[in-house]
Amino acid sequence: MNRVYNFSAGPSMLPLSVLESAQKDLLAYGDTGMSVMEMSHRSPAFEPIIADAEAKLRAVMEIPDNYKVLFLQGGASTQFAAIPLNFMNKNKKADYILSGQFSTKAYQEAQKYGDVVAVASSKDVNFSRIPETTRASFRPDADYVHICYNNTIYGTKFNYIPDTGDIPLIADMSSCIISEPVDVSKFGVIYAGAQKNMAPAGLTVVIVREDLLGNARPDTPAMLDYKLMADNGSMYNTPPCWPIYIAKLVYEWILDLGGLTEMKKLNEKKANLLYDYLDSQDYYIAPVEKASRSMMNVTFVTGDAELDKKFASEAGKVGLKNLKGHRSVGGMRASIYNAMPYEGVEALVAFMKDFAKNNPK
Ligand SMILES: *Cc1c(COP(=O)(O)O)cnc(C)c1O
Repeated sequence: MNRVYNFSAGPSMLPLSVLESAQKDLLAYGDTGMSVMEMSHRSPAFEPIIADAEAKLRAVMEIPDNYKVLFLQGGASTQFAAIPLNFMNKNKKADYILSGQFSTKAYQEAQKYGDVVAVASSKDVNFSRIPETTRASFRPDADYVHICYNNTIYGTKFNYIPDTGDIPLIADMSSCIISEPVDVSKFGVIYAGAQKNMAPAGLTVVIVREDLLGNARPDTPAMLDYKLMADNGSMYNTPPCWPIYIAKLVYEWILDLGGLTEMKKLNEKKANLLYDYLDSQDYYIAPVEKASRSMMNVTFVTGDAELDKKFASEAGKVGLKNLKGHRSVGGMRASIYNAMPYEGVEALVAFMKDFAKNNPK
């Protein structure tokens, strides 16, 4: 076995111990004589798996009792439509903060369903920082405010929770969920595609305050109706059983580490190592404004597109994979989610130093 340090933005690394655990039970789970992949989702063997996944996520995130946890499919991108369908239901108005590509896609999708306004944007600075907002930024009669909490492509993260007063705040947390503690009660809805920090692709987690459910537009497809999904315990149809099982193992891994407080310490240690190095030299440029830096996705460039290309290719040859940045930013991006060990970031920084020495500008 020869595992690399995989800096992919998603799907991305999973904890080795989780993969080993899944491997051990791959052919026969417990005494069932079958793989979790082969089980009926309504079987006595699977029911505790999904119940446990929910219980463990509730424990990890300290989710209050008045919130439902849904295990859905379709990725975060499907929720871009489900959110206006479920929640743009009083005044048919919603306010969006544009902080990158995914929040822009969410905004464009919502425009199909009502009066949707971009109340703040950092597009003019190529999304290199998080837009500032105050209570006055939002329309008092907006049905909700939508943000993307961590911007996977640009490497920025909200360092504040927008004050929306009584207006429910809805957050796409695909690339930062369970990386640090968040106060769930500050949000009406949190949603995340699982393939960045929780599980293999195919699972989408939605955490929704109960009182917001039950007012979906009448033409909402059944599969996008959160109330229907909640009433059926995420089993209106076949849920993504295998990713739910892996997510459960990942939640257990975090609880064993000491929960999100410990997880945050480990993540900060990794991110600080990389950012401190970036701040200590002038070969690489980190385009993101310091106050908006993401702890999960770190972007940097050499300023020379040819050198950037060479960097990603040479890093790949020594087992530091998938460091090429997204095409809209260029340069490099190191995604250092929960499962990336500290040693992976150490190896990256050592490589960066060597590369700078061997490739003078
Ligand atoms: C990856 C990502 C998405 C898109 O997720 P899909 O599951 O592919 O639809 C949306 N938002 C954020 C913040 C992401 O990182």
